[in-house]
Amino acid sequence: MERPNAWKNYRKTEIKKAEALAEAYKRFLDCGKTERECTAYAVNTLEQAGYISLDRALAEKKKLKAGDKVYVNQMNKAVVAFCLGKKPLEDGMNIVGAHIDSPRIDLKQNPFYEDAGFALADTHYYGGIKKYQWTARPMALHGVVAKKDGSLVNICIGEKESDPVVGISDLLIHLSKEQSGKTLGEAITGESLDLILAGKPLAGEEKEPVLAQLLTILREEYGIEEEDMISAEIEAVPAGKARDFGLDRSMIIGYGHDDRSCAFAELQALLEIRTVPERTCCGMLVDKEEIGSVGATGMRANFLENAVAEILNLMGMYSELSVRRALRNSQMLSCDVSAGFDPLYASAFEKKNSAYLGRGVCYNKFTGSGGKSGSNDANAEFIGKIRRIMDQNRICWQTAELGRVDLGGGGTIAYICALYGMEVIDSGIAVLNMHAPMEIISKADLYEAEKAYKAFMLEA
Ligand code: MN
Ligand code: MN
Repeated sequence: MERPNAWKNYRKTEIKKAEALAEAYKRFLDCGKTERECTAYAVNTLEQAGYISLDRALAEKKKLKAGDKVYVNQMNKAVVAFCLGKKPLEDGMNIVGAHIDSPRIDLKQNPFYEDAGFALADTHYYGGIKKYQWTARPMALHGVVAKKDGSLVNICIGEKESDPVVGISDLLIHLSKEQSGKTLGEAITGESLDLILAGKPLAGEEKEPVLAQLLTILREEYGIEEEDMISAEIEAVPAGKARDFGLDRSMIIGYGHDDRSCAFAELQALLEIRTVPERTCCGMLVDKEEIGSVGATGMRANFLENAVAEILNLMGMYSELSVRRALRNSQMLSCDVSAGFDPLYASAFEKKNSAYLGRGVCYNKFTGSGGKSGSNDANAEFIGKIRRIMDQNRICWQTAELGRVDLGGGGTIAYICALYGMEVIDSGIAVLNMHAPMEIISKADLYEAEKAYKAFMLEA
């Protein structure tokens, strides 16, 4: 039952393809460090590939037919793209869906203060993080500031070589006797994750001169007033680029593999569909998965359902029943990363049912915690079908569980889409040190995932 390592069977041409995909992926990671940046990238690439926005199709009262390509941009934080197939939409779609939000440190709405000669920003972390991992490292600021006049200021500080970076300090080891005695979870509190932003007083300023210096920079260089932070979304993320990892360059280390590795594989797969597919292909890149898929840009919002209704209407086939049928008759890969087996923490895994880096795209029948609580638990019949699709298309794949039973848990968007009565299974790429500022994946798994998602979408 042990699954083969993908690298073993690659010919030279395949290694070249995997390398090329990895290079493109690293560029994607570097320009997509927030859900907004990933959405902008996706919209841009989809437009270039001939996709038109659903809003435009509606405005132009366009009649949609097989072969047409449309996408929905959900508040600049999520995207749903459709490549309309020959079969009636009522017969269902082949859906792949990944998320583009990643754990990070968000600035609070009233963030700035001065203490001991520093100007700092109070933060509120986003998603599940081990807090100690986010201190003592260079961080970049990405995001937007929405002004009262409706204009939006884009922020990206700390990625260019010439940019300054910011960061969260940690206590020196020499004074850490007390801190070292605490548990990992308690040693650093969420409230203490404050970012140092400046350290020089503004000349001639008596009261809080370093804060005054910071506010002057924000005003002069970005046109932002302190009060504008109330309507800002600024995310502190690890600064720097994704890089090859390992002396054999077989892996990639970077920020946000969860879940941008699956998101990229999915988007690439969608863009590679150049003929009119039998069934409609749908690719989703969604937000807020890391905090429970909530809000208008998370999977629990109805943007998929709304888009299907609009498309059916533009095809002249709308009815409430046809929307329900289109969703119920769909099948989906919920594309999200899997925990890669880590030999340094072997006891956290069960060897036979773990995902291994380099053994191809993973399928997780279920996720959740405890007795599978909160999971989707895919149907055996559907898994049988997936096995056939994977093997017919010579894809290297493996099955996995998150880790040892009762050790923890996690969820994905799978159970939400399953609410429509469609077949769903979790499928993804194995990651080492998931949710750390820098995560690791294998290039082979990215390559196999892209092939898998394309094969799944093209399934008649
Ligand atoms: Mn994820
Ligand atoms: Mn995650």
